[in-house]
Amino acid sequence: MLIVMHAEATAEDIARVCGTIEEMGYEARPMPGRQRTTVGLVGNDGRVESSRIEGLPGVQEIIHVSKPYKQVSREWKPEPTIIQLSRGVTIGGTAVVVMAGPCSVESEAQIIEAARLVRAAGATILRAGAFKPRTSPYSFQGLGQKGLELLGRARNETGLLIVTEAMDAEGAEKVAEVADIIQIGARNMQNYSLLKTVGRLRKPVLLKRGLSATIQELLLSAEYVLAEGNPEVILCERGVRGFDTATRNLFDLSAIPVVKSLSHLPIIADPSHGTGHREMVMPMARAAVAAGADGLLVEVHPNPERALSDGVQSLYPAQFERLMGEARLIAAAIGRSIATGK
Ligand code: PEP
Ligand code: MN
Repeated sequence: MLIVMHAEATAEDIARVCGTIEEMGYEARPMPGRQRTTVGLVGNDGRVESSRIEGLPGVQEIIHVSKPYKQVSREWKPEPTIIQLSRGVTIGGTAVVVMAGPCSVESEAQIIEAARLVRAAGATILRAGAFKPRTSPYSFQGLGQKGLELLGRARNETGLLIVTEAMDAEGAEKVAEVADIIQIGARNMQNYSLLKTVGRLRKPVLLKRGLSATIQELLLSAEYVLAEGNPEVILCERGVRGFDTATRNLFDLSAIPVVKSLSHLPIIADPSHGTGHREMVMPMARAAVAAGADGLLVEVHPNPERALSDGVQSLYPAQFERLMGEARLIAAAIGRSIATGK
């Protein structure tokens, strides 16, 4: 439930509304706006009896949020969430952010070379996994802590921001020390204890859609993070399991406008995991920018044949450069740009 205060409501009126909500056993989240303050009531499962609040001084209107997810909904917050990162990079505004890099950190030489080449092509965020969720326990599992250290070095060397995956609570704290954004992978989208952990960390979270998750389930998972007090969530469409083996996943382009209509959170697209084949990454990246994605997550490797994971879908450096050029043209055609940072 949302309580919209009058523009003239005093600080005392707002405090009284918050106090009443707390007396009723819920949590109050005052959200000062440009014109007026809105107070969110959280902690309810179902409709709340609002008569006690309706009559309080300064209350203009009560909005009952109809969706099962509350704080991530457009009803709760009509204007888009813009996440401010360091170096002037934002996600969710007019600039489309590109996060790129190899699937995994493999060695110092590999990650530094990858960082340099994605930076030279115009990416602002380096994306590579140190902790890797692999389908087989016999596949390369990532360099772990060492991988994080190498990402820190790549950050210092190139100025790129870092996004990397955390697979458990312990990993999340380690990742938060190095990364600018914590990635929660598709396999952990419904790991609710991990979502609560990252909800308590003060770091933006990149939440990837689960292997067979509906859009509503994705938004409810984001709600877990917001409910813990972390409003900085970036959603990611990375394809869902389909019946056709021609692609690795069924890349759901329509999820982008659907999420935009339901939520104020930014959504980016991952055409690499979405298609699984490098030749399909470029057309789907173009389509995602055209569809309104706030960013792209693209796997690029200095030498894809030698990649320890996801080589088949990793772009060659020259392909990535072309992708960036085309993404710039498409972004410009819809009144956007590709983020450059400072
Ligand atoms: C990844 O981003 O490298 C990854 C493992 O993706 P997903 O969680 O979407 O499968
Ligand atoms: Mn990968």
